[in-house]
Amino acid sequence: MTIFNLGSINADLFYALPHMPSPGETIAAASLERGLGGKGANMSVAAARAASRVVHMGAVGANGGWAVERLLEYGVDTRHIVQVEADTGHAIILVDQAGENTIIIHHGANHAIPEDLLGRALSESETGDTLLFQNETLLQPEAAAMARKLGMRVAYAAAPFDAEAARALLPLTDLLVLNEIEMEQLKSASGQDLREMAVPTVIVTEGAAGGRLHRVETGWEAERFSSPEVKAVDTTGAGDTFTGYLVAGLDRGMPLRQAVALASQAAALMVTRHGTADVIPDLRDVQDARF
Ligand code: ATP
Repeated sequence: MTIFNLGSINADLFYALPHMPSPGETIAAASLERGLGGKGANMSVAAARAASRVVHMGAVGANGGWAVERLLEYGVDTRHIVQVEADTGHAIILVDQAGENTIIIHHGANHAIPEDLLGRALSESETGDTLLFQNETLLQPEAAAMARKLGMRVAYAAAPFDAEAARALLPLTDLLVLNEIEMEQLKSASGQDLREMAVPTVIVTEGAAGGRLHRVETGWEAERFSSPEVKAVDTTGAGDTFTGYLVAGLDRGMPLRQAVALASQAAALMVTRHGTADVIPDLRDVQDARF
């Protein structure tokens, strides 16, 4: 089967600074590193590394060809990534000597994905394929409505938190994945509990503690899962790796608990590495890892 991911593509620009700049201050960065990022790109890479067929639907600017090349290198189908008249999305990540970071995000091309791209890409889908999206693009409701008509499964990673997007998307969602903080934000913004949200499967991640799943069959009672114990060096991208692997496992027909276990192992391995999309582990690494 295939996963169609409507998602952001960012250049993550890491500037190492002696200290965070104060208002009006100019300081030189000791170094600049550029990596592929954006929740969408991260999840596409994770699902492709988990051996699923992934079609990414997105946009970059004229300066974003390298990001598309890199996605292709990681096994993602990039035919439905278009170039638009906007800057490639990017995150300016200022890191001081204590390792604290301050981040500025520019959505750029991620908010300029043309709507006709969705119809073109999703017309290639088959019943039972998955549509995946996050909150870093626009057009999720349009894509979800199309996917429903086409008999696709709809998976929503509701991050970064956006109350309005969640309100529109939950009724169209089969699988919701979010972290504990986002779950609390969602409950208080909507005033609804899980039963009222009525999403058939909800997975709440809780970092090193693993997380819990809730499903309609059991009345959304919490069922816990654990994560392998590892020495974390950088938790960036853990959630995206988890979701990419989870969706890939389900797409390949795994029962939910088995897909969650695989996703937890992949995410645990990810936190032992520095970086984002470029270091997401592949299936072989995850299977060989001894936790
Ligand atoms: P991030 O925003 O850092 O990418 P997140 O907040 O979306 O992550 P988390 O709940 O922190 O998501 O982590 C997702 C999953 O990653 C967890 O359910 C767990 O399986 C794994 N994980 C995260 N941190 C650790 C850790 N320190 N040790 C082991 N596993 C971890």
